[in-house]
Amino acid sequence: MNTDLLFGILMFLTGVNGVNLQNEQDMNFNTHRIKMVEEQISARGISNFDVLRAMEKVERHLFVPDHLQKYAYLDRPLPIGHEQTISQPYIVGLMSQLIDVDKTEKVLEIGTGSGYQAAVLGELCSEVYSIEIIKPLQKRASFLIDSLNYKNIWVKHGDGYLGWSEKAPFDAIIVTCSPSSIPQPLLDQLAEGGRLVIPVGLKNVKKLMLLIKTNGKIKKQSVIPVRFVPMVDDKGNTY
Ligand code: SAH
Repeated sequence: MNTDLLFGILMFLTGVNGVNLQNEQDMNFNTHRIKMVEEQISARGISNFDVLRAMEKVERHLFVPDHLQKYAYLDRPLPIGHEQTISQPYIVGLMSQLIDVDKTEKVLEIGTGSGYQAAVLGELCSEVYSIEIIKPLQKRASFLIDSLNYKNIWVKHGDGYLGWSEKAPFDAIIVTCSPSSIPQPLLDQLAEGGRLVIPVGLKNVKKLMLLIKTNGKIKKQSVIPVRFVPMVDDKGNTY
């Protein structure tokens, strides 16, 4: 028997070929992810080392539908079903940097979606609470986050407009869907010194806002114009 054929049969029997293909694909994703952080995040002014490291670590391709995995490291949002999207990587980096958290702090996210932003936050702070209003998305994100072994992220189904009062106060709140004005419950659940990042505004005019609570007073600052899916209530009406 010729040696090539023998080698082929051996590879087939041991499954080595399949393993190699998987390794090769993982290496490709790793390369694309490092490039994404360099070219889309770091090059655009995100300089917080912990944020850059977290985005290098979290495997964004696992958070998008299988048939879109090859686009996971492009400079764009992607559909995740139920008419929702995973945010553009740069926006995730920017929002994560704006809330300026450390490993001792507790964060609330409104709009779990794919769970990607929650996972990035899981790398940056001590506890992450995330709320998603679409049940199948919440279930999928919870399952994925558990399977990735995050022990500091809790995802629940519910209306994030109301916040998560049992777990308040939060050192930071990140809102990844857009209401027309800032929800009062979120301001109430922000700790002293806390930061809230939220895309807010009427239909097509949304601004990413950073709010900081200092001595009980809220200071507001507008960051950039953005596009986000609307924040809705449990009947689908926009806030
Ligand atoms: N952070 C997400 C992106 C989410 S897109 C990620 O990393 O993938 C915004 C999400 O907000 C959608 O999944 C949408 O269903 C959810 N959403 C909209 N209104 C909401 C509300 N009132 N409470 C909680 N989630 C809401």
